[in-house]
Amino acid sequence: MALIVQKYGGTSVGTIDRIRNVATRVKRTRDEGNQVVAVVSAMGGVTDKLIGMAREFGDTPAEREMDVLLSTGEQQSIALVSMALHELGVPALSITGRQAGIRTIGSHTRGRIEAIDPDYMRSCLDAGNALVVAGFQGITPEGLIHTLGRGGSDLTAIAVAAAVGADVCQILTDVDGVYTCDPRIVPDARKLPEISYDEMLELASSGAKVMQSRSVEFAKKYGVIFEVRSSLNDNPGTLVLEEHPDMENVVIRGVSIERSQARVTIIGIPDEPGMSARILCALGDAEINIDMIISNIASDGYARHSFTMHANDLGRAQAALKPVLAEISAQAKVETEAGIAKLSCVGIGMRSHSGVAATMFRALGEVGINIGMISTSEIKIAVTVDETRIEDAARAVHAAFDLDKAPA
Ligand code: ADP
Ligand code: ASP
Ligand code: MG
Repeated sequence: MALIVQKYGGTSVGTIDRIRNVATRVKRTRDEGNQVVAVVSAMGGVTDKLIGMAREFGDTPAEREMDVLLSTGEQQSIALVSMALHELGVPALSITGRQAGIRTIGSHTRGRIEAIDPDYMRSCLDAGNALVVAGFQGITPEGLIHTLGRGGSDLTAIAVAAAVGADVCQILTDVDGVYTCDPRIVPDARKLPEISYDEMLELASSGAKVMQSRSVEFAKKYGVIFEVRSSLNDNPGTLVLEEHPDMENVVIRGVSIERSQARVTIIGIPDEPGMSARILCALGDAEINIDMIISNIASDGYARHSFTMHANDLGRAQAALKPVLAEISAQAKVETEAGIAKLSCVGIGMRSHSGVAATMFRALGEVGINIGMISTSEIKIAVTVDETRIEDAARAVHAAFDLDKAPA
């Protein structure tokens, strides 16, 4: 008998019929002789709707209250999925984050799972039940509710799989695997049979929302091999696992895009030690995630730094920088630009192949797309482009690397 963790996302539990479909799949998995823990998201659109209601009371509702509010979405769906299982004659129990023993630390609305105490889940499984666990939520040492950041049910599923020692972890969603690019943007994107943790992590943290990036980090850290597949058919999916030597033959595994980015440029920074640290600390203290960083020395002896970040963080970044810049120099000034997007090419094969950036930049040049900032890592090259051209950019780069064709 295997123990299987199945995660069903928002679209997969989006209607009563879809909830019945989930129950049928859980029943089938049990009928095949397995124990099942289903981790479920809020019904599609519910989390956004709750956020919209909260914003009726101001742009920055208290994060403690946001956690109380947003966690109710998942609580609705666990009860409904359990009821659908009962309708099929399956003994099932809905389980909240607290009951599942999911202990979190960190800040409200972006809690991090520190540990899971699986005793209650184990005893419920041993008593013959199917478990339906609320994704996206945990409990702080003080007993407060935390949510785990958007897309956080993926993290719940991976962490629960590690905690209960699952034999298999399946992420069941509205696509039947991880593709070379979001198939909604590049229609000839190809499904990947497998992908390494590092590649999945780079794609996810560069905008491929098929997996939440922190869930992939967690899976890598604890060695949880997982499979992304469809909740609506039985097509083979994509296995996400530690890299093996054959994987290096492919130079680019996939392309991802991230919209709604903004650039902040600080000019007039005195060319002295410690300046960058002060600027970055101010942004870090304001919990602003910066992504690309470019720095150059201007001819007048003042340095200039540019960062990218999510456009939603622009206002907070400006507020956080104001006092520091006033302190460091009368010349220091902030310039901002919104309406940009990021395109990333990812592949572990890049480590041993040259010319990747040239191919990418040529493809963009040929369709008349201007490149803004550039950043590279061992397995990723990312550029910013005008947001209105990002889909053309993704299609051009996808075609330039022949990603629609299976590797020879
Ligand atoms: P769920 O609600 O099941 O968590 P998400 O909407 O979070 O599902 O993630 C699935 C979506 O991710 C797909 O519908 C697809 O549009 C998008 N996506 C982005 N990049 C990729 C990719 N490389 N491969 C597959 N899907 C992708
Ligand atoms: N319901 C949450 C969200 O919409 C968590 C999730 O679906 O994974 O972000
Ligand atoms: Mg998701």
